[in-house]
Amino acid sequence: MSDTAVEVVPAVLILLGPPGAGKGTQARMLEEKFGLVQLSTGDLLRAAVAAGTDAGKAAKAVMEAGDLVSDEIVLAILKDRLAEPDVAKGVILDGFPRTTAQAEALDGMLAATGQQVNAAVSLEVEDDAMVDRVAGRYTCAKCGEGYHDSFKQPKAEGVCDKCGGTEFKRRADDNAETVRARLQAYHDQTAPLIAYYDGRGCLERVPAMGAIDEIAGALGDIVAKTAG
Ligand code: AMP
Repeated sequence: MSDTAVEVVPAVLILLGPPGAGKGTQARMLEEKFGLVQLSTGDLLRAAVAAGTDAGKAAKAVMEAGDLVSDEIVLAILKDRLAEPDVAKGVILDGFPRTTAQAEALDGMLAATGQQVNAAVSLEVEDDAMVDRVAGRYTCAKCGEGYHDSFKQPKAEGVCDKCGGTEFKRRADDNAETVRARLQAYHDQTAPLIAYYDGRGCLERVPAMGAIDEIAGALGDIVAKTAG
């Protein structure tokens, strides 16, 4: 693991939920509204795979199978990212922690600078809907805005609403078979964190099957109440 110093981060919000719960979408909205920094370990790992680093080479097949990458690799990548100056306003952790060992390591990293998790939000969704949600999604290759074959098409066909980009991409692991493995990994290894954060008194449950804006409103209230 890297021994880089971790910056002091005044607000740490965790988004918990299975693949398709809307963690990435909500994190991007919170980023815009509060100036917090979205920190997605999935994005960091995909960048490592694309760059062909040692960590990326080790993670590639694991991610394609829908399993969890080792705590060692994920923690090293996260720690490096937390050492960058832009996290100073606070972070929204999207897809991290995913295991109890990761949650304990995060507590340790934060405690070293006198901090703690402000809130861990569980996005409460119905599993049955997640396969369709994930298998139909794609993003603008230029700005990352999210779309969906059935639920959210660009207003002008083939043109990103946000930046006008015309290229879109789908994740290699967003197919029905891998999504089922990812849901299983969530229930086996990540769902226990709901009780973990409940025990620390910082758990918030947000119903997340409804309108994106309503869910964003509930999350905004939590940030306003717990961060700063
Ligand atoms: P995500 O973009 O959060 O859906 O993550 C995509 C994939 O990256 C997951 O299915 C895992 O293989 C891997 N991954 C992302 N974050 C973590 C993590 N915190 N721990 C272990 N594996 C992770």
